Amino acid sequence: MATQRFGLCDSCVHQQLVRSGRGSTFSMCRIGLRDPDWPKYPRMPVLRCPRYEARPPQAAPER
Ligand code: SF4
Repeated sequence: MATQRFGLCDSCVHQQLVRSGRGSTFSMCRIGLRDPDWPKYPRMPVLRCPRYEARPPQAAPER
């Protein structure tokens, strides 16, 4: 089971996990790629989000 560490984003269809060259993992919100008023990297953990959409349980986050 994946560790829940980014709050709501961990179960949201819009999350994309990004790995840095130094081995850190960041949670990116793909809404931020198309909406300049939305943060690509919201402050973690996200506890409330008006744009949250649950990801199907078996679906892995985008990488
Ligand atoms: S829509 Fe909200 S909950 Fe979903 S990934 Fe973006 S910031 Fe996180």
